[in-house]
Amino acid sequence: MRDETKCLHSGYTPKNSEPRVVPIVQSTTYVYDSTDDVAAVFDDPTKSLIYSRFANPTVMAVEGKIADLEGGVGAMCTSSGQAANLLAILNICEAGDSIVSTAQIYGGTVNLFAVTLKKLGIECIFVDTFATDEEIEAAFKPNTKAVFGETIANPALTVFDIERFAKIAHKKGVPLIVDNTFATPILCKPFEFGADIVTHSTTKYMDGHAVQGGGVIVDSGKFNWKNGNFPCLTEPDESYHGISYTEKYGELAYILKARMQLMRDFGVYPAAHSAFLLNLGLDTLAVRMQRYCENAYTVAKFLQSNDKIDEVIYPWLETDRSYALAKKYLKGASGVISLIIKGGRNNAVKFMDSLELASNEVHVADIRTCVLHPASETHRQLTDEQLVAAGINGGMVRLSVGLESVEDIIEDLKKGLAAI
Ligand SMILES: *Cc1c(COP(=O)(O)O)cnc(C)c1O
Repeated sequence: MRDETKCLHSGYTPKNSEPRVVPIVQSTTYVYDSTDDVAAVFDDPTKSLIYSRFANPTVMAVEGKIADLEGGVGAMCTSSGQAANLLAILNICEAGDSIVSTAQIYGGTVNLFAVTLKKLGIECIFVDTFATDEEIEAAFKPNTKAVFGETIANPALTVFDIERFAKIAHKKGVPLIVDNTFATPILCKPFEFGADIVTHSTTKYMDGHAVQGGGVIVDSGKFNWKNGNFPCLTEPDESYHGISYTEKYGELAYILKARMQLMRDFGVYPAAHSAFLLNLGLDTLAVRMQRYCENAYTVAKFLQSNDKIDEVIYPWLETDRSYALAKKYLKGASGVISLIIKGGRNNAVKFMDSLELASNEVHVADIRTCVLHPASETHRQLTDEQLVAAGINGGMVRLSVGLESVEDIIEDLKKGLAAI
């Protein structure tokens, strides 16, 4: 099946007389005939359902669909994108370990890696996404367990050189984890370029309608966990009857460990109803992504021609620093554009406050056009000097182009520009 078809048919195939649409299984638990039956399920929880803290049929249908779209062997949904990235790392790292991440990643993930993981004893070494191979290799230590980057970085909009980072990670015997939120599997399938694990905030394009938050971890099934660096996957797990995940589950070792050990212990699993809504978003993902890309490209071209704007950052523009990487890895650059308005903060605020169609909200990758001013919203606590150091210009506006008529979006932007 191609992507458009997978979006509609993967993950759930009704049999004779069963519901056409994946049902919401609103039950915390599952019934068995005997104690022996339940004991058997505990011996191998992959064979049947136990409890909705870590597995539920509605959620599993969505997991199957996303795994299929990414070309992975398995997936596990989480209650947020933050939870997906946290568990993706904790599944292979413990106190005393370190990871290497590009610096151009989502601010929430920077905080998770630099502050919260540090408190758990896991160090993150940040490297610039455009660093040389030598500089990247210099960030590795004997205890490094993973490399991390975002396909299209939020909000820097740099495109991640997946193949190059995968090669370096594999040379060092560790997996490459790619947060594929902005691209979605419709615009990029990181496994085809050597990534081993993919994560998403499904809150963004996958859900697409701003109705519920979620995340997902997808396993390519291809990484060799038996290379000596990952005893957590090869050695017996005392908390699970002494099983070795690689011995018992082969290519599913990573994703089943995440479910049976971490999801069991942390319980950040989505509700069935949330998964049902996510599934509705996924049904139309392929057609929506195509239109987001078309609308945003038209808007980016329009903005580029305006003399009140200093710079338009959009990887599909030939002038963009990530253009060559975008053409290599992506089928389109999504709906997110960053623009820098001349005259700094005051003009950016005037521009944003004069928009009528585009809403001012802390969200991105929504079906409706929205804008955010990093300097006075998400990065409000920073001084003007700190903003410059963080690469955030007071005139920067993050524009998430939606699915309205592109003429209406441009007319609205003209009102904003006229107010400057
Ligand atoms: C939003 C976002 C996250 C965090 O996801 P939540 O669903 O908000 O927890 C992680 N990574 C990227 C790239 C994001 O855009």
